[in-house]
Amino acid sequence: MPTEGLSPAEIVPVTGFAAARGLPAGGVTDDTQQAVIVARLLIDGDGRIDPHRLADALLAWERDLRSRGIRGLLGPSTRAALNAVAAGASLEEAGKHGTTNGAAMRIAPVGIATPADLGRLVDSVVEASWVTHNTGVALAGAAAVAAAVSAGIDGASLPEAIDFAVAAAELAAQRGNWVAAGDVAARIRWSRTMPAADIPALIGTSVATQESVPAAFAVLHHAEDPWHACRTAASLGGDTDTIAAMAGAIAGACTGADAFPEDAVRTVTEVNDLPLPELADGLLKLRARTG
Ligand SMILES: [Mg+2]
Repeated sequence: MPTEGLSPAEIVPVTGFAAARGLPAGGVTDDTQQAVIVARLLIDGDGRIDPHRLADALLAWERDLRSRGIRGLLGPSTRAALNAVAAGASLEEAGKHGTTNGAAMRIAPVGIATPADLGRLVDSVVEASWVTHNTGVALAGAAAVAAAVSAGIDGASLPEAIDFAVAAAELAAQRGNWVAAGDVAARIRWSRTMPAADIPALIGTSVATQESVPAAFAVLHHAEDPWHACRTAASLGGDTDTIAAMAGAIAGACTGADAFPEDAVRTVTEVNDLPLPELADGLLKLRARTG
């Protein structure tokens, strides 16, 4: 979060957490908060997400942030979709133009709860995303992240998980409305051999799905472990919190939670009031039951 929106030139390589902009060091942002919302809905809904309940939960979350004086955490697609719903638009219309990375940033729980079966995975991703991000590009980005997480939990290596992510992105790109955006699957494939220093200039680190999702995958090729992936992503500039959230989720799924340093996990646990082990447990139970 402290590096979000900065240019690469303004960032010294990130070595750990820092307090900034009113958040304590290790305080989570919208990516994690919305992922927790998705996790709770999945567990309460027995593996299904009701789009009305998702829209209501996101609106309630934003109201809660506003009441505490926190603004600017709602991304452009989610904001537009929720405004449309509040103004009486049908849910089918609300997410029609949502192309940014809000669906991908919050999708990891779907990857944990859903076995690595391509068709089912993409269906679950679409169900958890279309109310705010009903476009091929946003769904492809979300499917890529969820697929990599799901494959990682099944024991896939990072390269195997990335291959599965590309296949999921290709399939999901055919869902939702087509928009003229770069192809997520093609850009993930293309970024495989890219030097880390070229990621911000060549892939881009904006909130556009076709930039930040391939950027998160590109980081993985240069990461020694999940924590290094998070720190590398946080050093890219642009939408750093989101890119790091996605890279960390994928690398963590492939290597196991134990790969994160104990003190980093302790800090996140202490400064945020989030029942993460309990949610992970509930999601894994869903996965085991539907596997
Ligand atoms: Mg962000």
